[in-house]
Amino acid sequence: MYIFKHIADLQAHLANKRQLGNTIGFVPTMGALHAGHLSLIAAAQLATDCVVCSIFVNPTQFNEASDFDKYPRTINVDCGLLIEQHCDVLFLPDVAEIYPNGKTPYQTYDLGGLDLPMEGKQRPGHFAGMIQVVSRLLDIVQPNQLFMGQKDFQQLAIVRRYLETTASPIKLVGCATLREENGLAMSSRNVRLSPEQRQQAGIIHTVLQHIKQQYEQQPIAQLVQQGIEQINALPNFAVEYFEVCDARTLQKITNCTDAPEIVACIALKVGDVRLIDNVLIK
Ligand code: AMP
Repeated sequence: MYIFKHIADLQAHLANKRQLGNTIGFVPTMGALHAGHLSLIAAAQLATDCVVCSIFVNPTQFNEASDFDKYPRTINVDCGLLIEQHCDVLFLPDVAEIYPNGKTPYQTYDLGGLDLPMEGKQRPGHFAGMIQVVSRLLDIVQPNQLFMGQKDFQQLAIVRRYLETTASPIKLVGCATLREENGLAMSSRNVRLSPEQRQQAGIIHTVLQHIKQQYEQQPIAQLVQQGIEQINALPNFAVEYFEVCDARTLQKITNCTDAPEIVACIALKVGDVRLIDNVLIK
């Protein structure tokens, strides 16, 4: 596996690949890699000739400095996992490489209101920082295909809109969420849970599956309320939001007939660890 820290070296390598007729697949991450990330690499390997994974803990998308500081960083293990997975290229820039002119976004994008509910409300500035780094990384890597997880449903919707509104030729591939045995969505943050909390956190998926099974039988508001109470009953679990919304607009719905595609999204804190998950219920 090639590891590049500098844009110029990465771009020279990718230019060679393109000249040989290879297509480029790109998997941006913040590291602390787990099987979920590796499934994106595997999807990229099936669809493209040369797979680039980036590891960059982007400071501009963290609205709390402490969350940024505590974000797990396991670069040696990550490199081992990427080599085992036969990833072609790791792009490992530092902050100055990505933001040579400072971290203030130099461009703002109309995200069509997709950035306002849920994560947007809870984490002011998060999506501005996320789209800032995604657009920067895409400019650098210029992939044919971009692979991102449905686990971050709102992020995926915003990136899809960004690519559409900028008339980008890059194909976005949304990949399924990989889960631990008890249903907990794999996340870099899970290592910060105690073994007991990690076990208990399986309830998040149980509650989401329950709403998927019951949304035609029971009022959505009632299912949401029950789910919140069930989760909050666990020690140190606190739901931040639990919303059922139109999967395209991310606007809240109250009736299962309100939209053709419906997603239930949840965010919660377990102690000081923040988790998110979702399920497409229709
Ligand atoms: P992150 O490192 O958390 O920024 O995630 C990098 C990419 O991996 C994003 O596109 C995420 O949506 C995706 N991802 C994170 N967790 C999972 C998972 N459990 N299954 C599949 N993809 C995931």
